[in-house]
Amino acid sequence: MSRTRLLRRLVAAVLVLVVVALTVVLTVGADLADRSMNHVVTAGPYAASPAAESLLRAIEVVDLHADALLWPRDLLERHSYGHVDLPRLQDGHVALQLFSVVTKTPRGINYERNTDDTDNITLLAIAQRYPVRAWFSLRERARWQARRLADAAERSVKDGGVTLRLVRSGADLAALLAERRAGRPVIGALLATEGLHPIEGRLDNLDTLAADGFRVFGLTHFFDNEVGGSAHGVDKGGLTSLGRAVVARIDSLGLLIDLAHASPRLVDDVLGATRRPIVVSHAGVRGTCPGPRNLSDDQLRRIAAGGGLVGIGYWDGAICEPTAAAFARAVVHAISVAGDDHIALGSDFDGSTTTPFDASGMGLVVAALQGAGLSDAQIGKVMGGNALRFLLAHLPAR
Ligand SMILES: [Zn+2]
Repeated sequence: MSRTRLLRRLVAAVLVLVVVALTVVLTVGADLADRSMNHVVTAGPYAASPAAESLLRAIEVVDLHADALLWPRDLLERHSYGHVDLPRLQDGHVALQLFSVVTKTPRGINYERNTDDTDNITLLAIAQRYPVRAWFSLRERARWQARRLADAAERSVKDGGVTLRLVRSGADLAALLAERRAGRPVIGALLATEGLHPIEGRLDNLDTLAADGFRVFGLTHFFDNEVGGSAHGVDKGGLTSLGRAVVARIDSLGLLIDLAHASPRLVDDVLGATRRPIVVSHAGVRGTCPGPRNLSDDQLRRIAAGGGLVGIGYWDGAICEPTAAAFARAVVHAISVAGDDHIALGSDFDGSTTTPFDASGMGLVVAALQGAGLSDAQIGKVMGGNALRFLLAHLPAR
């Protein structure tokens, strides 16, 4: 072999080694990020009182917000870290989980003020070997995460265990509930966005996401975007002109707006602009925990008056201390202001949060609500009854 050929082979081998090493480092990094960002205060399995467990088995559980699709976790496998996977949803007796897609978050993220200059998700996307088109396109990132959910749903059917079923319409949801009531092991999944920066400033991209199965559109996440202001943005403004067109388009498609993370001005603007009830998928209430993204009593009242739905979370930013008792206090306050038809679960599981338990711990939630003096009927509404009634009424019929 000539020296040039040997040299060429050596260079090629080194290049392959570098690529393999980089891939390993990034893959391990994404896994480590998942393990280090999504904690529980107490690891499962969880044991609630017999009274709480028996009520849990008699009601339907719906959670309005989880970010599990962001992480390199096979949803069909049970994990000892993070919050959501199919086995743990099954343990938690969950009927329907909303899966939100996170596509861009600022470095040094905080609740007070973030620009859109930096992005944590690019490296996470590359590390998880997203297709190259999704490395730099937020729209493609959202679509890839939707594809991952669809893939998990398809594989769950082949596995023959618990089935994960995509829900896109009222008819899908009614069919899911009928199957569950007949004792079949099936759990629904509904797609949502965490901010509308994935439409990349274009209304037609909203239609693309709707065609992919997205049904609930969070307008903003941690920074102000082309649609409107974030509670954690720089300007914290209201709806932009594109934002007004987006609201009208979501209304005309019969889909849903999520005002979690919205600036107060954006909340005002959307409530004034939409003809449909809105969702706040994951939040806290200022009555028990002050914070820039937690809802004031006045906001709670207006959202309820419009027929809306508010999901209360379990993490410290929503309820100030991540305990089931603090969650129950927030629910009791929200009910005292908005009535018991408008409050739901909005865990923010896998949203880089620390929660008291994971998705398998729903018996503890029931127990805490019982401890706070709610009736069985009220607990049934908060745990899922309100969300099911709302979604059956407001998702597209078919
Ligand atoms: Zn969020």
